[in-house]
Amino acid sequence: MKKIMIVTGGSRGIGAAVARLAASEGYAVCISYLHNRSAAEEIVAEITDRHGVAIAVQADVAIEADVLRLFSHVDATLGTVTALVNNAGILETQMRVDAMDADRITRILMTNVLGSFICAREAVRRMSTAHGGAGGGIVNLSSRASKLGAPGEYVDYAASKAAIDTLTIGLAKEVAAEGIRVNTVSPGVIYTDIHASGGEPGRVDRVKDGIPMKRGGYPEEVAHAVLWLLSDQASFTTGATIDVAGGR
Ligand code: NAP
Repeated sequence: MKKIMIVTGGSRGIGAAVARLAASEGYAVCISYLHNRSAAEEIVAEITDRHGVAIAVQADVAIEADVLRLFSHVDATLGTVTALVNNAGILETQMRVDAMDADRITRILMTNVLGSFICAREAVRRMSTAHGGAGGGIVNLSSRASKLGAPGEYVDYAASKAAIDTLTIGLAKEVAAEGIRVNTVSPGVIYTDIHASGGEPGRVDRVKDGIPMKRGGYPEEVAHAVLWLLSDQASFTTGATIDVAGGR
């Protein structure tokens, strides 16, 4: 079967690493992005220069119409998706819950939770044998924050990732007999731009001594876990979480 992957938020960070590794393993890859067209085009060029297949689509996962357009575009250009990586995720400036306004919490939940749900729904509609599909795999990006809570930084983000943990458990059971495996990768502190969004670009280096392995992680280390979960080697693994967190 032709391997076709959608990676949401594939223009930078962990999503970009997943896209590169997937292309090297023979996937035709569609990365989505929010604003950063040049970064997305760079990843596509990197993959196509190595004779891989990649396209980029601007689509905000928090907007249902954008998600529908993203999946339809993949249907029309690459074929039916066989792997979805629900990677797009955001956090905002570090603060306590008693300083958060409702708009901020809504933004976090719309992108991290609603976005993952509607992308998963579109994938299941295409992959499920109950809908005439040929099966597939979904990997959701959670965070160790879902268990640690991120106090004083972003409890809203941590709670959104707890929702992702539960999405994985429930959806995995719903579609287990329909040819779809659903799993989670839960990264610890990884060197990407996301920490700058929280107002602290150097956060990984500040917290790394508290990590049992005494270092931050790299996007490629997360990507390997994602690709393993999507591979046939993980054929009896569903509803599972792999922590990629240096022991934290
Ligand atoms: P990142 O470097 O900040 O990159 C975020 C990516 O998501 C970018 O490609 C961005 O697109 C895209 N994006 C943001 N909002 C979007 C939206 N509404 N619709 C579509 N795409 C959107 O993030 P990262 O660190 O690689 O994180 C990737 C995932 O891993 C997230 O779910 C994050 O929560 C999770 N995670 C990260 C860490 C960490 O330490 N880095 C730890 C645990 C979990 P543009 O380039 O267009 O902005």
